[in-house]
Amino acid sequence: MQVPLLDLKAQYATISDECIRVTREIYESQYFILGPYVEALEKEVASYCGASYAVGVSSGTDALLISLMAAGVGQGDRVITTPYTFFATAGSIARTGAIPVFVDISPDTYNLSAQRVNATLEQMTPTERKSVKGIMPVHLYGQCADMDGIMEIARAHDLVIIEDAAQAIGSEYGEKRAGTFGEFGCFSFFPSKNLGCFGDGGMVTTDSQEQYEFLKILRVHGSDPKYYHRFIGGNFRLDALQAAIVSIKLKHLDNWTRARRENADTYRRLFEQAGLGDVVTCPVEKEKRHIYNQFVISLVNRRDELKAFLNESGIGCEIYYPVPLHVQDCFNYLGYGKGDFPESEFAAEHTLALPIYPELTESQQEFVVDRIRHFYANSL
Ligand SMILES: *Cc1c(COP(=O)(O)O)cnc(C)c1O
Repeated sequence: MQVPLLDLKAQYATISDECIRVTREIYESQYFILGPYVEALEKEVASYCGASYAVGVSSGTDALLISLMAAGVGQGDRVITTPYTFFATAGSIARTGAIPVFVDISPDTYNLSAQRVNATLEQMTPTERKSVKGIMPVHLYGQCADMDGIMEIARAHDLVIIEDAAQAIGSEYGEKRAGTFGEFGCFSFFPSKNLGCFGDGGMVTTDSQEQYEFLKILRVHGSDPKYYHRFIGGNFRLDALQAAIVSIKLKHLDNWTRARRENADTYRRLFEQAGLGDVVTCPVEKEKRHIYNQFVISLVNRRDELKAFLNESGIGCEIYYPVPLHVQDCFNYLGYGKGDFPESEFAAEHTLALPIYPELTESQQEFVVDRIRHFYANSL
């Protein structure tokens, strides 16, 4: 049996007619950049997330970068974030000229620990603390970070919050959805996200009308009106084709999320039935609505061997992320070293993402769990 990590062809089969019809319409119109499809999607995503406004951008990475630019983050500033995330989180901070300040995660959720953010701020010199302009929490794997704790710190220190919600569209914390706690919520439509397009795309949500207008100016090289530049922006535009595809998919998102959550429950049941409780730790559902962009298990030992074994058995699985950002070569200049963030390092060494996509069948999941049981059979 083959179990890919993600099966986008199965999803496409259910929406192909609509996609072909709408792309043909756009081909006929020859109207490719921004325009009515992008505006329609912006309204739909704002409404879906519960934000006042949304601005379509070229990728999740650019959503982070344009938000930092709109917040006025730059040279000499500091932004607090997690080292256990996709590169773009800290990469975008560094690209503005600001210094990423890493703070370790909570081991149960893999998300930035608010307590540790507090401790880091307390250890800083007054000058350093004054240079901290914001926090960029990541809602990793589809579960919201501790937003009560983080917002409290933001209020106490007057910090801007830019949420990296690239993996978390529709994820809920309390009564609100990811991307609506901070000043900016950043989303990605990269194909492997829960709401993916047919290429690159992203979105920024905000409740501030002022920031909404500013983001739209920054998106077109900071020009307002055309060819007059008071700001230095960039080309952060979203294509009509991508927007139209995302609009089609958005109508299915809640059903897909429900299926992902059911698959997560099925894994939990199967792991327990297999007696793997001592070897495999399933994700902790701490917040109300985990959307399972990834189903990441933690293993007591032999993680790399298990990954190779599963791959040989025809099962897709992946390590997110094998090297925490504080020990990436490009961030040597920040002066961190191995041992600085033990929880992130532990997660990088012990976790593995299993297939969780909506179209996954129960028999595929049984096969995955059975192979893992077989692998650990001698040590049980
Ligand atoms: C995917 C992702 C991004 C970047 O999104 P792109 O659309 O690929 O640029 C940023 N942060 C996190 C946590 C991501 O998973």
